Amino acid sequence: MTRLACRDCGRVQSLGIYPRGCPACTQAGKHGILEVTYEYGGAVRTALQRAFDSPRAHSVWRFDVLLPMTARDAHAVTLGEGGTPLVEAGWLSDFASLQTVFLKNETSNPTWCSKDRAHALSVSVGRALKARGMVAVTTGNHGASTAAYSGHAGVPCIVLLAVESDVIHRAMVAAYGGAGIVSAHREALLRHLVHELGWFAVTSMGDADAPNPFGVEAYKTIAYELFEDLEGVPDAVIVPAASGDLLYGVYKGFRELRELGLAQTCPRLIGCQAEGAAPLAHAFHDRLNDVPVLSQPKTMAISIGDATGGKPALEAVQDSGGDIVTVTDEEILAAQRHLASHGVLVETASASSVAGAAAGLRAGVIRSRDKIVCVVTGSGAKWSTQLLSQTTAGVYLEPSPATVWNLAHTLEKLPQPG
Ligand SMILES: [Zn+2]
Repeated sequence: MTRLACRDCGRVQSLGIYPRGCPACTQAGKHGILEVTYEYGGAVRTALQRAFDSPRAHSVWRFDVLLPMTARDAHAVTLGEGGTPLVEAGWLSDFASLQTVFLKNETSNPTWCSKDRAHALSVSVGRALKARGMVAVTTGNHGASTAAYSGHAGVPCIVLLAVESDVIHRAMVAAYGGAGIVSAHREALLRHLVHELGWFAVTSMGDADAPNPFGVEAYKTIAYELFEDLEGVPDAVIVPAASGDLLYGVYKGFRELRELGLAQTCPRLIGCQAEGAAPLAHAFHDRLNDVPVLSQPKTMAISIGDATGGKPALEAVQDSGGDIVTVTDEEILAAQRHLASHGVLVETASASSVAGAAAGLRAGVIRSRDKIVCVVTGSGAKWSTQLLSQTTAGVYLEPSPATVWNLAHTLEKLPQPG
């Protein structure tokens, strides 16, 4: 039977919505993070092995033996998330000299990002627990995905979008039937919706304003799929890190595989943050007890530009022998251009995992002979303004034949990526 246990005081709660986290810690004036716990044993191991042996399907519910709800529940929704491609990317070797590197390409999810896994579960659980509506605070991807799953589930949805969000994100929220609000005061609006009106926040696990312990559970399915596709465990998995939920979820998935005796080891989990927005990196390298809150995080990789992060991500890095590397915006853009030149268009935050592979190699965090997986989390296609501002060649309006002739000859002389 699955329950929620407090990571701080250890008290156990039945499955439910706790809008301030652990009730016992709240009463003591503290913030306790709740996490889903399971009784691991032979029956779970057998059921998980059966899931690996069954035909592959695009749904996180394939692994519902290790989720807090099952696919048989009438409230369970899916849009075909998960089962994303693992692509061997030898062509990355001229960017980071790694012998064996794979891309876990999460851009092929229904709304083109890894958040879809989290929302398949969070929206289903929220609906089962009779939440009055779903609310998301977002720079873009998270909100578009929440709107898609809420719309499909038939529950009201409000998406609080950052001023920096792209017009595509706003259009997606509206198209899926969500109510989009662009505001610089999103946290205050979130608190009002959650604590005054009883809405369910599909935010991160460690969010003191409105924690949601369910998203990380769905991210575990990335670990199960990697274990399946690689027929074992890689040496390191490199993950873009904002709140750190994705990082912790992937780690927890591998930890469970080890606990159930299916895997012998756990890969090193390596988080990537931008130099101008690296609270988790500061906390990890300076051995801080709490993740600092930055007054002015600054990076063009907006999806990983959070002012703070959750402590579970630090546990993932510490316990797996991993690290948190920081990369500059210029390194992120170079990785994004390199990926796009090989037909993989990811957003800047996602490119940080590839930039992080190169930085990790230079820092000795990973070795060139390691088997590495870089998780690329979201498509670049949703950042139209940012992409066009970075483009050096590509869009021409009604040019003359002479202009086209000159352009073709110029391009022929340029070195092509190989
Ligand atoms: Zn507690």
